[in-house]
Amino acid sequence: MKNGKGKLVLVAGGAGFLGSHLCDALLSEGAHVIALDNLQTGRKQNLRHLEREPRFDFIDSDVIKPLPARLRTKRMKIDEIFNLACAASPPHYQANPEHTMLTSVVGTHNLLSLAETTGSRFFLASTSEIYGDPEVHPQPESYWGNVNPTGPRACYDEGKRAAETLTFDFERSGRVDIRVARIFNTYGPRMRSDDGRVVSNVICQALAGDDITIYGDGSQTRSFCYVSDLVDGFLRLMAYEGKLPGAVNLGNPVELTVGDLANRVLAMTGSSSRVVRHPLPTDDPRRRRPDISRARQLLGWNPATPLEAGLHTTIAWFAGEQENVDKASRM
Ligand code: NAD
Ligand code: UDP
Repeated sequence: MKNGKGKLVLVAGGAGFLGSHLCDALLSEGAHVIALDNLQTGRKQNLRHLEREPRFDFIDSDVIKPLPARLRTKRMKIDEIFNLACAASPPHYQANPEHTMLTSVVGTHNLLSLAETTGSRFFLASTSEIYGDPEVHPQPESYWGNVNPTGPRACYDEGKRAAETLTFDFERSGRVDIRVARIFNTYGPRMRSDDGRVVSNVICQALAGDDITIYGDGSQTRSFCYVSDLVDGFLRLMAYEGKLPGAVNLGNPVELTVGDLANRVLAMTGSSSRVVRHPLPTDDPRRRRPDISRARQLLGWNPATPLEAGLHTTIAWFAGEQENVDKASRM
């Protein structure tokens, strides 16, 4: 593999929350980056600061459809393909479940086939959701999971499981050099205010003085990773030379309840919002915490950002976004 400088990287899902941060990190390493995205949940504004960047290009395209021919030309020597394309927030991925499933299955197949043609290394953004509502805690990569295959989350969970299957089959048959990251809940600037995930919901509600929506009794747990830590893990995993034993969990193992998260955000924002309870969504996992021994040992990776610091930056970012919205509505 080339080092950062001069390599050409395709980031599918590059206009999304994680994808846009990954594009920034790759560019700062000196890479040439092509972001491909259908803008379903991603936004052009996440990439606006790159408009004049000569090493950056954007393609508006859906990974379910045949990939643009120019990616397959001889001149286009793609070194690496990151597949992050897929809506990640439950309300968004459940809005069109068929599209979500096809994005993971057909989209991943299209990108793997491109990687085979171009000889690119391939990275799949998989998810802790492949563990479902886990019976093993914390979750090591060796755990096969407990997913309801017919419930409302299945389009995402089973889609990602199938995407992993395809990716490992391409590797087993010697067709593509692969890396698979199982990502646990990640947060930070550039999440959408209407994203629907708990961190963005609670922060936006607290800043606006709206009711804080807690689903269920708030005792379910998650482990939240700050975005820059995760992207550092992506780069280390993609750069890893040698035989990997399989997928690699990436997440912050500090676990807390959703109720506790809401209380912290309320305290940090000084908000007087009320907490209101909503029904727990179907198949909502009761608990989730990554076992990151593999990432620690193989990649020397360890999330460095404490929750308090990450929340502080994220709250400040959403507060700035709100100011911009207010300014625009006064003009
Ligand atoms: P996101 O919704 O912000 O980003 C997904 C991007 O993919 C968006 O820009 C969207 O427009 C694009 N996309 C969706 N379907 C597409 C299609 N068919 N063709 C082309 N583009 C398409 O979500 P995110 O949080 O940035 O997640 C990025 C990836 O990481 C996803 O694959 C997600 O499953 C995975 N992941 C994220 C988390 C997390 O906590 N953020 C956790 C686990 C896994
Ligand atoms: N959640 C909540 N209030 C919200 C949004 C989510 O209590 O406004 C809960 C949700 O039910 C889940 C947890 O927070 O138990 C994390 O949800 P999120 O959608 O962020 O991620 P995922 O369920 O995919 O882990």
